[in-house]
Parts: sequence; C-alpha cells; structure tokens
Amino acid sequence: MRNGRAGAAGDAVDFGVIGLTELFALHGGHGSDPVLTARLPTLTEGVEVADALAWERRNSYSGTGGYGTRPAVVIGAYDPATFEAEAFSSTAKRHAEGVATDAMPDALLSKPISVRKGDYIPVCEPCEAEFGRLRFPADTTFAKDIK
Ligand SMILES: [Zn+2]
Repeated sequence: MRNGRAGAAGDAVDFGVIGLTELFALHGGHGSDPVLTARLPTLTEGVEVADALAWERRNSYSGTGGYGTRPAVVIGAYDPATFEAEAFSSTAKRHAEGVATDAMPDALLSKPISVRKGDYIPVCEPCEAEFGRLRFPADTTFAKDIK
C-alpha cells in the first residue's frame, strides 16, 4: 500500500491513507483488498468533488430568504465504496455532518461551510465526538483546538 500505515490520531498524515484506513475499519478490515487499495488515489479527489457540490448548494441559497429560511451549514460527503458524492444541509435538529452520515454512513466528509458566511467553519465539539477527525480533510479546523 502506498505510504504504509496511517499514524495515530492527530498526526499529520496523508488524508488518503487516513480515509482508506477508516474505510477498511468500516468495512470489516479488508486492509489488503487490492481493489480498494487501487482506489486510494481517488479519495482526496472524491472529497474535492463533494466539496464542490457543497459550495454549489451553498451558492444556490444566496439571495434567497433570510435568517431561518435556509440551512445554517452545508457539507459534502463522498463514499469511496460507491464513488458517490453528494451535498447535505443541516436541519433544525441535526448538524450537516449528521445529516450526511445518516444518509451515507461510510462517507468521508468535506469541511463544513457556513451558508451565511460563505466560508468554512470549524467542526464543533459534538460532531468531532460523534464522527472523529479521520473523516475530515487534513486541513480541517476543529473548534476544540481554537478555544
Ligand atoms: Zn456540529
């Protein structure tokens, strides 16, 4: 496998390796599956596509309604097992990360985007606790780190 094993949580390691490592865990540890290993270079690209879809969705809300009539946050999700990428919006009851992983449980996530700010925002502590850091790109900001 390219780049060998992933480091411990929090280490600066290649996102693709981290993503694949987590994928293997989610799929029951098929760590030597040559088909999955061959997909390794596409993980970052897949998340980039998901991120682009999230921005497309965010921009579709601009100019519509006011506060409370549009979602607070959008996020992209990419499932490396199916190659599906999709954008998801937060709801009154669930953060965008939760909406995305409810629909695509094995997905990697892009960085969350504030619809109002038109910029990336940190992953909140409850979402970090629920989803961990490994689903997110390596340059994601976590609220826990910027207190
Ligand atoms: Zn959250």
